[in-house]
Amino acid sequence: MNHPQRDQHDGDRGAPTEAVRAAASRPGDGTRAVRAGLPDPVKNEPPLPGPVFAAHFHLPGAVEGPYTYGRDTNPTWTLLERAIGELEAPGQDGVDTVVFASGMAAVSAVLLSQTRAGDTVVLPDDGYQALPLVREQLEAYGVHVRTAPTGDDAQLAVLDGARLLWIETPSNPGLDVCDIRRLAEAARAGGTLVAVDNTLATPLGQRPLDLGADFSVASGTKGLTGHGDLLLGYVVCRDPRLAAAVRRWRKIVGAIPGPMEAWLAHRSLATLQLRAQRQWANALAVAEALVDRGEVAGLRYPGLPSDPSHEPAARQMRGFGSVVSFTLPDRAHAERFMAALQLVEDATSFGGVRSTAERRGRWGGDAVPEGFIRFSAGAEDTEDLVADVLRALESAAAGA
Ligand SMILES: *Cc1c(COP(=O)(O)O)cnc(C)c1O
Repeated sequence: MNHPQRDQHDGDRGAPTEAVRAAASRPGDGTRAVRAGLPDPVKNEPPLPGPVFAAHFHLPGAVEGPYTYGRDTNPTWTLLERAIGELEAPGQDGVDTVVFASGMAAVSAVLLSQTRAGDTVVLPDDGYQALPLVREQLEAYGVHVRTAPTGDDAQLAVLDGARLLWIETPSNPGLDVCDIRRLAEAARAGGTLVAVDNTLATPLGQRPLDLGADFSVASGTKGLTGHGDLLLGYVVCRDPRLAAAVRRWRKIVGAIPGPMEAWLAHRSLATLQLRAQRQWANALAVAEALVDRGEVAGLRYPGLPSDPSHEPAARQMRGFGSVVSFTLPDRAHAERFMAALQLVEDATSFGGVRSTAERRGRWGGDAVPEGFIRFSAGAEDTEDLVADVLRALESAAAGA
């Protein structure tokens, strides 16, 4: 990251103090978010150059990069990839980021580019609902798949001889948490690669590469971009050789983000810290409001000190995310609750500035009770959001 202004000021005032030097080498999350991936300032140019719409680039004579054909590279991706890398792995050299058309494109790119027939992959059995579809595809290609739950680091018991361990923490939608560092150390000792799905936490909430993972993978559709208006995915790799394989996979499959999406995503990153702080605080407030409700069972939020995941989460997370999950007595009760909410949209996905919730069981893909609600706190005023949730709970209870 560049700090031209800061350097100049330091020069003006003589030698920088220790505090200034420390801040310049370790800028805070807000500072990193607003500057992430920006090019060096160029007179008369915008701070964040607009999207480059190009299928091909002028290429007379010898084939030389960086920009040749639009499926391989695009300047708008370059800036976004740099930005995401700065957030996921600040100050780490050799880290490389590859952006994709969606989170699933990124997930599939890692799982399918890193495994061959005969390899073994360890997946969580309580992960994102499309993971079982990837599992079927891996098995169709001759890859062996083992699964174990996220909670209690249960994947440790099935690591032996695996090529790749796939971790999702906090898990979606159950919000269980595992100890990334512990699993990564065990995996590394056995020569197993480690990928972490970091969608729920966002890079401000958790940095898997710092905790020993080889890949941090996420859907940028959710909290990273936060406005519910685009799909995006990314893979951050510790090692350029791993990144090259992931990039090659993107070229083969062609699962590339459009320039407009990439640019919108980069624009959204400037407010990531602001959004995350408000949304995480709102999620905690909603969870606290639900703690003593008689009709609420199975309340989960890793930020609640009473949550079964709190201890491992507090060790490795810098924020606990925007998602709260809980179970109402039955399907009809949950449907009345959903219908009574006024500030919370009934929609899937999460991490957006407008609160959303859904009765997760309506999809049929997750092992959740009929009354299970996945709630994503937005950036509304905390009092308004909590009041809406409590009013909807009263209304749902009265309608029984
Ligand atoms: C949404 C999600 C994905 C998939 O992302 P898309 O952008 O919808 O393809 C992967 N993992 C987790 C944990 C998710 O929540």
